[in-house]
Amino acid sequence: MPKIVPTKTPMPEQDPAIRRRNYFEVPLGYTPEQAIEEARRCLQCKKPECIAGCPVEINIPGFLALVADGRFIEAAHLVKQANALPAVTGRVCPQEEQCEVRCALAKKFESVGIGRLERFVADWEAAHGEIEVPAIAPATGKRVAVVGSGPAGITVAADLAVMGHAVKIFEALHEPGGVLVYGIPEFRLPKAIVEQASIESLIKSGFTVIAVGGGGIPVIEDEAGDLVGSEAVIDKDYASSLLASSIKADLFLISTAVEKVALNFNKSDQQWLERMTLAEAKRYYAEGHFAKGSMGPKIQAIIWYLERGGRQALITNPENIGRSLRGETGTWITG
Ligand code: SF4
Repeated sequence: MPKIVPTKTPMPEQDPAIRRRNYFEVPLGYTPEQAIEEARRCLQCKKPECIAGCPVEINIPGFLALVADGRFIEAAHLVKQANALPAVTGRVCPQEEQCEVRCALAKKFESVGIGRLERFVADWEAAHGEIEVPAIAPATGKRVAVVGSGPAGITVAADLAVMGHAVKIFEALHEPGGVLVYGIPEFRLPKAIVEQASIESLIKSGFTVIAVGGGGIPVIEDEAGDLVGSEAVIDKDYASSLLASSIKADLFLISTAVEKVALNFNKSDQQWLERMTLAEAKRYYAEGHFAKGSMGPKIQAIIWYLERGGRQALITNPENIGRSLRGETGTWITG
């Protein structure tokens, strides 16, 4: 049993007198010595609850043991088996409500700094030029278009490419990254981190990024690098529906925040849907089951796609794409 260290190893930060004069990231990240010290706080639980608290089920004690041994690159590769964006999630995931709140240490003391260490191994991997491109399965001959290069699009693209599908990411704005680039301020998530550690590795793996549509925040970057308001954005759901029709896609897949579509979402009589016909989708939509600005436009986009001759559509969340494609979950909609 390792000796319990009750508090997290502090992470160095910019001095307030300096940081009030700039927009750079405030936390500076662990040194290797600090990372090892923090990783050694892990108890290596036999039943690690931290994994259950992680939405993508990273092998947390496994990567912490590697960090404690100073095997940082191996730790980064282990994290990336479950998470394509550790440099990003290590900075902006709410670990205090997910993995860290479930940490055995958190019952009496401060949890292990899982997010800080995830960030550390990702930054270490990027800084030492050893960004790993995972092994790609033999080509399946299937082509997949992913609309939007935000975190969901990137995760889906990476998972599908590893399965051997040919993936293209379509993005409306100047830079790939979606909310990671345009929605999170520089001092919280530096753009260099998104571009360098995440998207560049995808592009180097052979992905193509083409502009087609985008949603979310209606801003564009001017020549001086300032964000200015835009009069409109192209609707991402509708644009992807048009794209899926025009290229006669075998499957129109919408990756979103929920595993399945529900009737009476978030109400006591909520009912998850595994399958819907086009006629049922139109009826449920007309009955107001799908919220405006949320599931509503996704269902409408699928209705348009199926009405234009599309074969089948699927709605699920990024972590369940693989299971959904095997028919184990998700909501399938057919014409
Ligand atoms: S719950 Fe905490 S102490 Fe246990 S394995 Fe996970 S990080 Fe380590």
